[in-house]
Order: sequence, then C-alpha cells, then structure tokens
Amino acid sequence: MDKIETAFAGMGDSGAHADIAETHIACLSCDTLIDISGLAHGERAKCPVCGDLLTEYRDDGVSRVVAFSVAAVILLAMACAYPFLSFKSAGLESVTTLPGTVIALYDYGMADLAFLVGSFIIAVPLLVLLLLLLLCTPLVTQRRAPWMIPVGRIVFALQHWCMVDVFLIGVIVSLVKIAAMATVVLGISFFAYAGFAICFTMAMASLDRLQFWLLVERLMRDQARG
Ligand SMILES: [Zn+2]
Repeated sequence: MDKIETAFAGMGDSGAHADIAETHIACLSCDTLIDISGLAHGERAKCPVCGDLLTEYRDDGVSRVVAFSVAAVILLAMACAYPFLSFKSAGLESVTTLPGTVIALYDYGMADLAFLVGSFIIAVPLLVLLLLLLLCTPLVTQRRAPWMIPVGRIVFALQHWCMVDVFLIGVIVSLVKIAAMATVVLGISFFAYAGFAICFTMAMASLDRLQFWLLVERLMRDQARG
C-alpha cells in the first residue's frame, strides 16, 4: 500500500484527518508535505523540492477515463475478432489472429510464454479496463458502493502489469525483419490493437491516483453523512 492509499485507508467518515488529506499531500520521493488545495482545471501540482509531479486536477477526469476505457474495450474486442497479420511467401499464405498467437505459442510447447503473452497483452489490460469502468460507475452515479476501495487498489496494482505498448513496439520491430523475407499484410486487428493501445494509454494517463482516491473518499463520506 503506498502513501496515498495509506492516507485514505485509516480515514473515518469525517474529521480533521479527511480535511488535511484533501488539501495536503506528502511527496512520494522526498516526503515534503505540500498544500494542493485550490488546483483549477488542468493545473498540476509539482514538488518544490524534487520537482516530481504530485497530481493533476481535471473537472472531466472521470468522464475521460470512462470514454477512453469504453473505446479501448471495443477496439480490443475488434482486435481479437479479426485477422492480425498475414504473411505471403513462395505461394504460401499464413493468417494469424491475436488469440491465435497465444495458441500458436502453446502449440509449440511454450505454455508459460503463451500464458505470459495472453495475460499481459489481452487478459490483464481487459481486466483493468472492466474494473476501471466498475470503479467509475459509482463516481458517475454518485451512489456509494462498498467495493470501491478494494477495486481501486486492484486497479492501481494491476496497471503496472499491462504491457500493451511494449507488445505493439515488439510487433512493429519484428515486422521490419519479416518484411525482408515475406510479404506482410496488416489486418484490421493490427490497427484496432494500435487504437486500443492509444485509448488504453490515454485512459491510464487520465487516471490521476490522488484525484480518484479523493473522489472515492468524498463520495463515501457524503453518503455516510446522508
Ligand atoms: Zn519531492
């Protein structure tokens, strides 16, 4: 549990601790306590000592996360449903799909690699997006849900295990080599996955850790007050 979550984990439904946590944050790098109250839309708070970015406030933070997450889920579904790449060489053509690459690794006896690839490029990013949408639902509807804090912790823990951008860069580098040996045709899935990578990255970039915990805490406290 990091400092931001620790700050909120011990909070009750009201009190001075909540007020201090909403206006001050300790820098994760140098522990300096910084006043972040009064941030306007689009403004960022940086540590005056080490220069680390502490938080960015956006009025439409939750809406952006929801919009990019929904787009990412749709694009990932398209990426899994359509052909990813096709190779043509010496009259032979081979078409592969995104789930097909995982199955091919398994068929070649690399079950552990198939598990890792399938997890980090499809399963974990999809799980993060679905949990993120689940977390945003009470924030949008302003109805408190008891699972908000555990789901939030899972989302922030899993976001580091999504390697969408690494996979896409790996594919592009591989294509440069393969293109010298065979004719490569990019399928709909490739462009859908590229779009998914962009939307996923934007959804994660819009997810400001501190602002999300503040919204969760405010909702929990307001609903408790009735
Ligand atoms: Zn600092």
